[in-house]
Amino acid sequence: MAENSGVGMTSDRTRLRMVKRLEEAGIKNPAVLSALERVPRHKFIDEALDSRAYELMSLPIGYGQTISHPFIVGRLCEHIFQELPLQRVLEIGSGCGYQAAVLSQISNEVFSVERNINLLSEARIRLRKMGYRNVHLRHADGYSGLKKMAPFDAIIVTAAAEFVPDILISQLKDGASLVMPVGTDSQELIKIKRNGDNTDKESHEKVKFVPLLKGLS
Ligand code: SAH
Repeated sequence: MAENSGVGMTSDRTRLRMVKRLEEAGIKNPAVLSALERVPRHKFIDEALDSRAYELMSLPIGYGQTISHPFIVGRLCEHIFQELPLQRVLEIGSGCGYQAAVLSQISNEVFSVERNINLLSEARIRLRKMGYRNVHLRHADGYSGLKKMAPFDAIIVTAAAEFVPDILISQLKDGASLVMPVGTDSQELIKIKRNGDNTDKESHEKVKFVPLLKGLS
């Protein structure tokens, strides 16, 4: 019922416009565009920010954290995308759960770890209410990855560190990739592909993420 109300239809239209703008800005993968089209970004932020939900910007979600810029969310998905649906993906830094929900559209199972217990509980309730049953949130320090559920077909880190933690690379399947922002003041997206005991590293676009912090809160 709510989805068919005036508000729902307006947000459907503004979401379509957002996806169009993302396509013009360079997101090309049809499966990723369609994932972005399906996830209602306005439901991941405070109602007071509703009118800005489909603008191309990051927005505050409390606790000094943000919902990622939709272009970045799409770009991260494109970096890890493979022809076959990904079986199991790990995200570090759930925040409000938006990127995890988008990832859930292109992979069978998403695990996402968050250090902040308040953000984690809010995101867990939100995702459950919205019916994202293939997203599993864990209260953990992303510097350790999620050994219990490893290995992963892909790992996405949505907060910046000064280096790529080796432990995360060790939790990739052979042939799988990790993508994360690296740097402090100036950051770039780094993609690492595991090939047996070796790794291939590529540098991509300049980005600006909140820092990957140590320990739980
Ligand atoms: N992925 C989010 C954006 C996340 S912002 C989205 O979909 O919009 C970065 C998040 O990483 C914050 O919620 C922050 O609390 C979390 N974070 C920072 N350091 C962390 C760590 N070491 N382990 C797990 N989560 C961490």
